[in-house]
Amino acid sequence: MSMYEKSILKVSHVEESTTLLGPYNRFVIWVHGCCFNCEGCLAENTKNGSYEELGIDMLSQQIANSSCEGITISGGEPFLQVPALLKLIRSVREIRDIGVIVYSGFELAELKRNDETAALLPEIDILIDGRYIKELDDNRAYIGSSNQRLYYLSSRYINIGKEYYETGKRRAEIKLTGIQAVLIGVPSHNVLKIWQDIKEKNGGINNDF
Ligand code: SF4
Repeated sequence: MSMYEKSILKVSHVEESTTLLGPYNRFVIWVHGCCFNCEGCLAENTKNGSYEELGIDMLSQQIANSSCEGITISGGEPFLQVPALLKLIRSVREIRDIGVIVYSGFELAELKRNDETAALLPEIDILIDGRYIKELDDNRAYIGSSNQRLYYLSSRYINIGKEYYETGKRRAEIKLTGIQAVLIGVPSHNVLKIWQDIKEKNGGINNDF
């Protein structure tokens, strides 16, 4: 692994401020690239769409300077870019304390079995794990399908998390910027239908149109 590879993160999209993907105000990073192929994937654009290579130094400053309580890392598959994410999280935490929530298609047991992926786990406060299974999509708040599990890997969010995850309803937002459509949050079945209509009308899976 060269210094260059550790110092950049392949990113499909970032949002500086949302409450839709974890407690408090969060800076969200959708990393680019995934090794899974879940039917009905809600984030096809993070696999096949456009992406940027962001420098870790710049991104960590941007996060530290934002008003977020913490970051949520989704994708795509975050654990395909462990060295860069380790560097990013540690760089921000050298500047100020942040919480870290990660959505992964890997299951926790799979992540623990591999030394490289296991190295990221101590940096994570909440992990939501497992592939998305369309048939098990039960409209549960903030979680794509019922096979996926939410793990508190630290005590940081245990109190607020119970209220946020167990009493909340699914919330999502479709952000249209003129040239781009972005789906933020885990969509209800109704919002998912609207999202699919937008994609069909605009010619495919890429979020740029
Ligand atoms: S793990 Fe997530 S991003 Fe990857 S294919 Fe499954 S739903 Fe899509």
